[in-house]
Amino acid sequence: MSLDLHFPGLLGQDRVKRQLRAEAANNRLAHAYLLVGAKGSGRFRLALNLFTALNCQRREEGLSPCLQCPSCQRAAKLQHENLLILAPSQEQASAQIKVDALRAALRTLAFPPLGQGARFILIREAEQLNPAGGNALLKSLEEPPANNFIMLCAQDPAALLPTLVSRCRRLNLQPLAPEVMLQALREKGCSRIPARIALSGGSLGQALAMDPEQMEEKLGHLLRQLFKADTLNDLWGLAEEVAANFQGERRDRQGLVSFLDLLAQYYRDAAVARAGRPEMALLGQAAHDISLARALDNFNWVRCCQNQILTNAQPELALTVLMKRLL
Ligand SMILES: [Zn+2]
Repeated sequence: MSLDLHFPGLLGQDRVKRQLRAEAANNRLAHAYLLVGAKGSGRFRLALNLFTALNCQRREEGLSPCLQCPSCQRAAKLQHENLLILAPSQEQASAQIKVDALRAALRTLAFPPLGQGARFILIREAEQLNPAGGNALLKSLEEPPANNFIMLCAQDPAALLPTLVSRCRRLNLQPLAPEVMLQALREKGCSRIPARIALSGGSLGQALAMDPEQMEEKLGHLLRQLFKADTLNDLWGLAEEVAANFQGERRDRQGLVSFLDLLAQYYRDAAVARAGRPEMALLGQAAHDISLARALDNFNWVRCCQNQILTNAQPELALTVLMKRLL
């Protein structure tokens, strides 16, 4: 059955939308997708949109989802009988997805979905599947029964079993353009919009969820500690303290890199202030008195450190080297 898919209320991601629209129209949807993008980039909403469309009771009458019928409304509340969502527990960012819950969800595949719709097993933060979970999923990915879909959302596919990745059709979500973000954040009446855009890496969800004032407090704390440090041992201790904030069951390298964005913006602000353009500053934090050359160098060192952390350098070491250079 072909489907005239649309994406009401979803911003950006034109390429992915075009692809899904064409696949839905030609009845060529894959039974497993891997949606890759930053947290808050819309992976979950995109998957939910497809689910809602495939289950919409008016899907044969025109553009789907209609968002009005009982099925669409249940989907919007995440209370749809065909929608099974698995996610790590909210309280602990690094918690794993429970294997028992995954196995229970996979057992439902033995029965056809309810109504004329499609069942989705939707896994948020698929990196948090442990190897047992990944292996349980692999079997179902081989050939799920008709009208069952498995959707994996991930930020870092390299953290997934390669065999999982190879069995899913991949959709890469892109960061939103600043002007699209600006418009959306204005409509929501957000404060500190330039800082939100600069620090969210094109992820609307992150821009909406962030608390710029609290982030600046954290930055202020880090800087005060940094300027107080006398010895390399002090710096190492500070590096350990920073890294420990991003260490749960596994290391949240992306979270640490996002935190360092704040430090990069601080030196960027110092640079634009020294260059006579203080109106371009993004943070409320007043940049301490350093030269333009030093601000540019420091900005660059932060970016280097972020790259090192993303390419698996030991965070404590990379942070200590960074802080030594900043002083
Ligand atoms: Zn509907």
